[in-house]
Amino acid sequence: MNNKTKATWMLAAALSLMLTACGNERAAEPPAPTESPKPAETPKPAESKKSSASTGDSSVVPAPPATSVNSESAKDAKAEKDTKEAKETKETKAAKDKPNPSEPADKQSQPSGATGAVNDNGKTGASGPKNPAAAVTGGKTKEPSAAGTGDRKALSWYYMKKPKGQVPNFPAETKSYTKDMKALWVGTGKKVYLTIDTGGPLGDIDTLVKSLKDNKVKANFFIAGYNVKKNPDFIRTLVADGHLIANHTMTHTDMNTQTDEQVRKEIEDYEKLYKDVTGKDIQPYFRFPYGRYNMHLLKMVSDMGYTSVFWSTAMRDWEPRKNGAEDPYNDIMNNLHDGNIILMHQGSPENIQALDKIVKAVKKAGYEFALLSDIEPPK
Ligand SMILES: [Zn+2]
Repeated sequence: MNNKTKATWMLAAALSLMLTACGNERAAEPPAPTESPKPAETPKPAESKKSSASTGDSSVVPAPPATSVNSESAKDAKAEKDTKEAKETKETKAAKDKPNPSEPADKQSQPSGATGAVNDNGKTGASGPKNPAAAVTGGKTKEPSAAGTGDRKALSWYYMKKPKGQVPNFPAETKSYTKDMKALWVGTGKKVYLTIDTGGPLGDIDTLVKSLKDNKVKANFFIAGYNVKKNPDFIRTLVADGHLIANHTMTHTDMNTQTDEQVRKEIEDYEKLYKDVTGKDIQPYFRFPYGRYNMHLLKMVSDMGYTSVFWSTAMRDWEPRKNGAEDPYNDIMNNLHDGNIILMHQGSPENIQALDKIVKAVKKAGYEFALLSDIEPPK
């Protein structure tokens, strides 16, 4: 990169670190998994940052960290793949042992990808990912390269937060989405779409279900298939309570690291599993694990009948929150806007502790909780 670019990038990185330090949120899903290949991600954040810098926004919400994160889940998933059954137990156990909060964070051990600098990783050591090397090392040659090129260039979702009450800015690539790439990241009107991501630990299910029920709130769940297998009764309860459940892949792996055939299988296996467990067809919404995708996959998923759902609020909820349940509450209330699609990880204890209070406050602010199916489908 030339000096100017470099300078811009560094500025962005510095800005983001600052933001991180201040506890600003990021918007992305946690880092990705890893094991595999790719890390890649990279520099994208720069872009975002740049924009934000130019915009004066102080809050950029960078892309997801790259990697690591979910390792737990990714790992689990992988294990799953390898050993189907035995693993279940193991997974559970692992999850238990590690009190990690969110999806991502879990296992530190996991390598991760490093992504970009910017993201957050760094600091959170705990969560930490960061090992770019890992990625590299991975050498496993999987076909798709993590970074990708052309319409397979790896992208990570992020948004740039604006002053309270205003709809954030979104990545420039959204302007390149075509009609055959159905996607949603924000709705309109005084509605809020709570999307709960269960790519990691299931956490305190009872409190979660009760908080929604007590407040008559319907939410949208993106639950990885391995978690559906782990607790099918939970999924049946959600269906009975009127929540929307959508496809989040079987293993919660970064789809950029998979072949088309593998991606298709992740999605179709989920459809079958969901049907087996609930007797119903899965809702036609999909979320890319970690918000990591590419234009080619966006189109492919759309061709399979799905609308990809990103978000306009996310939190660093895959790691312990400094101020406990106050953090998710403030993160959400300080970025509340029309059509807000909120990403909340179920595995974060603080999220669940704060849920009742959040839901009440959002309603008090004049918003109604709605299902993704209430959003007019993209044309
Ligand atoms: Zn997820």
